[in-house]
Amino acid sequence: MTSSSMDDRGERQAHEGRWEQLNRSWWDPRVVNCEMCGQMIPRDVWKSADGHSFCSVECDDLYRSYWLPRYGGKTTTHD
Ligand SMILES: [Zn+2]
Repeated sequence: MTSSSMDDRGERQAHEGRWEQLNRSWWDPRVVNCEMCGQMIPRDVWKSADGHSFCSVECDDLYRSYWLPRYGGKTTTHD
């Protein structure tokens, strides 16, 4: 096993969205969870262009490549 492609971790701009900081007050009971993995997001949340919240760009990636094709997109006009 070689790690020859270590320099290939460039920043792909495949995701549309931006990082946002949750400026919650200590008394604010709202908790933001990643819509992909369900992990609680303590401070930095990835807001995708279509309004989803993820803990990381990786989860955004997973969401689109894995979750959406299977469960998402209520475009089942098949009945
Ligand atoms: Zn996540």
